[in-house]
Amino acid sequence: MSVLVVLEARGGKLIRISYETLAAGLQVGQAAGLPVEAILLGQSLQPLAAEASGYSVDKVVTLDHPLLADYTAEGYTLALEQLIRDRRPEYVLFPHTYQVRDYAPKLSARFRTSLVSDVVGIKANGSAITFVRQLFGGKLHADMVGQEKPVFVSVQASVFRAAETSGAGSPIEAFAVAIEPGHILSKPEAPFQQTQRSVDLGTASMIVSVGRGIREKDNLALIESLAQVLGAELAASRPICDNGWLPMERQVGSSGQTVSPKVYFALGISGAIQHLVGMKGSKTIVAINKDESAPIFEAAHYGIVGDLFEVVPALIEELRKAKS
Ligand SMILES: Cc1cc2nc3c(=O)[nH]c(=O)nc-3n(C[C@H](O)[C@H](O)[C@H](O)COP(=O)(O)OP(=O)(O)OC[C@H]3O[C@@H](n4cnc5c(N)ncnc54)[C@H](O)[C@@H]3O)c2cc1C
Repeated sequence: MSVLVVLEARGGKLIRISYETLAAGLQVGQAAGLPVEAILLGQSLQPLAAEASGYSVDKVVTLDHPLLADYTAEGYTLALEQLIRDRRPEYVLFPHTYQVRDYAPKLSARFRTSLVSDVVGIKANGSAITFVRQLFGGKLHADMVGQEKPVFVSVQASVFRAAETSGAGSPIEAFAVAIEPGHILSKPEAPFQQTQRSVDLGTASMIVSVGRGIREKDNLALIESLAQVLGAELAASRPICDNGWLPMERQVGSSGQTVSPKVYFALGISGAIQHLVGMKGSKTIVAINKDESAPIFEAAHYGIVGDLFEVVPALIEELRKAKS
């Protein structure tokens, strides 16, 4: 019995959400009192395995096979099915990526158990683990408990802080998978490329985000000044990006990025559910809005009811004074 964490790599490197999933897996392992094994699939996995072995896992297991060199749903499902039948884990965690969305439902169906997808939280009551996922675009949080084992879980990006290396040097084991060319029915094409982003808001520790309350593009200079004095990344609600006032890659929300900085400033943002869903994992939320009944205040830890054109310049001035 164990917790398996399936890691995903691209271009020979583990992707960031793999480290976050590892952190989630270590949390589950600790709460449930189970060993944690990091799983890698592909070919020539030694460098990745050596890296993964530095992350306080009990073991790194490689599923190394020429037919796994390129991702296919059939290959990955079959290889993981063999490993899971051998290991009999209690929990199998995945990063919630496009790839995982493709094969994890098929894999969980083979075991006739549930896949709790897009998990945003883990609660432990003794060794009983509850997984939290959002419903209705984030309006509700549902606590899910898998009745049958193994419980398959995919973890949303930017929710868990990435695991940090401990230099552990955990043992690496090769698990022999039996796959024949005839098992692979689909022909792999070039992997889906997500839009190249020059900013990764998911890793920002402080974000200053602006909404329609800014009124016009020229006024953004004020918000940029605040971001600059704080050393924060600039972000926005959807209308600002739809207007082309800031690039789409700076949009936060259900159709933008999910962020979880230490501090998130929401300036002139009403707090529509599609925005909240992308930022409510922030550690501290500071909202400035002239409407005291704006929904953003329900999510905010600190709220200023006021005109941002008065509050933000005063804030910048005080911050500059404090710095000098
Ligand atoms: C399918 C779908 C996906 C979506 N995805 C996203 C998404 O990813 N991200 C996103 O943000 N939205 C998204 N939306 C849009 C979302 O529903 C809201 O319309 C949007 O978030 C509103 O942006 P806002 O808060 O900037 O604007 P508004 O809702 O217009 O709010 C502006 C706020 O500014 C305040 N204000 C005005 N003047 C001032 C001032 N001088 N000082 C202080 N406060 C002031 C007002 O009181 C108001 O609360 C999506 C919608 C749909 C249907």
